[in-house]
Amino acid sequence: MKIYQANILFTPTPDAFQVLERGFIVVNDAGIVEGVFDQLTEEYQSLPVNDFGDKLLIPAMNDLHVHAPQYRNQGIAMDLELLPWLNTYTFPEESKYKNLGYAEKMYRRFVHDLWANGTMRTVAFATIHPAASMLLGPFPSGRHGSNGRTCRNESKLP
Ligand SMILES: [Zn+2]
Repeated sequence: MKIYQANILFTPTPDAFQVLERGFIVVNDAGIVEGVFDQLTEEYQSLPVNDFGDKLLIPAMNDLHVHAPQYRNQGIAMDLELLPWLNTYTFPEESKYKNLGYAEKMYRRFVHDLWANGTMRTVAFATIHPAASMLLGPFPSGRHGSNGRTCRNESKLP
């Protein structure tokens, strides 16, 4: 059991945010939030509290559509329409993922940066390479998600 104290922003219902100044989050040993409280109930009062002072704790973010092999292309390639963009930027980068060493290195960076920026759940698309696609999932970052191999039927590149 872990208890965190800070300023907490959370969503008790799907249509509402709530802010608890100097509130508490209780997380069980499975990593599941048992509750968010303005005061600790008696059953938790003897447990140690990880006090983050005036810092803000927010829920992790979810990304339900992310193309993992496009990690290197983020923020670039806004100069073309979709099909020329795919052939010029996307497919050449994705073809590099047939090399498992490259795929492992880039997927590790991708997952690390997701985690470091608070995105813990994703639906991530990989490439057409099955073995490389399997490398996208097993990183011990606490990230949860679904990964899938991308399929396509038109391209000059492998
Ligand atoms: Zn997409």
